[in-house]
Amino acid sequence: MKNIMEVKNVRLNYGDYEALHGINLAFPEQKLTALIGPSGCGKSTLLRCLNRMNDDIDNIKITGDILLDGQDIYRPHLDLVELRKNVGMVFQQPTPFPFSVFDNVAYGLKVAGVKDKELIEQRVEESLKQAAIWEETKDSLNRNAQDFSGGQQQRICIARALAVRPAVVLLDEPTSALDPISSSEIEETLMGLKTKYTFIMVTHNLQQASRVSDQVAFLMNGDLIESGSTEEMFVAPKKEITSNYLNGRFG
Ligand code: ADP
Repeated sequence: MKNIMEVKNVRLNYGDYEALHGINLAFPEQKLTALIGPSGCGKSTLLRCLNRMNDDIDNIKITGDILLDGQDIYRPHLDLVELRKNVGMVFQQPTPFPFSVFDNVAYGLKVAGVKDKELIEQRVEESLKQAAIWEETKDSLNRNAQDFSGGQQQRICIARALAVRPAVVLLDEPTSALDPISSSEIEETLMGLKTKYTFIMVTHNLQQASRVSDQVAFLMNGDLIESGSTEEMFVAPKKEITSNYLNGRFG
């Protein structure tokens, strides 16, 4: 199995505070990896390193290597627009732009300089279908995306991320702001897409991690405690501390 991304000995400092203490982790292609662990353990920090969303924070220092398809994403002169096309992101709060569904999903293609109208239309439809929101939007593609329900908005955001055909999609607690029905719709959507995309998802919901992920990485206090297949981790974790966390004894 190919690893599409690899994190090698990554340390991250916010000023004097070291939030990640040398993380080593590989992300297999076309699988969903869940990053779990108690609040403040560094899940979002790690996720944000993977498409350099942390770059603009003052006093941040990152060492180690993060490889996408074998190439260091922190190399000098890297094209950030290109990186974020390859490594897309979906946030906790649905964040559609205040314009139409169509323009939201077409946004990344237009930024990438795609001009072919037919290709854009085809890609918008395909992406909305992949994100399982086509039926609900096909007759109102010109409607403002912010007028849809929270769950629908989140699926529009997933479609927007997919439209540029990223290699990897980062998901930062993508269902935690949603009701249970919308959450399970998003989970089903993600599971249906795993043959096409690689997902890396932060979640504080252990049931969700056990339902949708193939691999789990457990972090605590900035360390990767262990990672492994979801089944292994939930049935027979190697470390007692992992077992304690998964059994709800802390966090
Ligand atoms: P998690 O996602 O697991 O809840 P985070 O990655 O958000 O954890 O945070 C890890 C640690 O880094 C926490 O102690 C948090 O307070 C700290 N932290 C996160 N973002 C910043 C920042 N921009 N500046 C300083 N410290 C931060």
